[in-house]
Amino acid sequence: MLKWQWQLLIENCTGCGICRDVCNEHAIKMSRRMAYPEPIVGKCEGCMDCVNECPFEAIKVTNNAKLVFEDT
Ligand code: SF4
Ligand code: SF4
Repeated sequence: MLKWQWQLLIENCTGCGICRDVCNEHAIKMSRRMAYPEPIVGKCEGCMDCVNECPFEAIKVTNNAKLVFEDT
């Protein structure tokens, strides 16, 4: 299982591209302007920059390792 799970709340996203631009890991791709951002599997390091900088609260990043730990 991947450690970080990146989710887009599609109804909030305007396709502005800020999340892609702030990600130092280059873990978010957008195929074209105004498209929806997509995570690049395995590259997210959970820094939360995209979550904090998205003006529309359209991104959720969760730590799967922590969730597994809390479930047991
Ligand atoms: S910063 Fe937020 S609104 Fe802009 S493209 Fe990323 S998820 Fe969508
Ligand atoms: S949490 Fe950090 S590393 Fe992961 S996609 Fe967002 S900006 Fe990139």
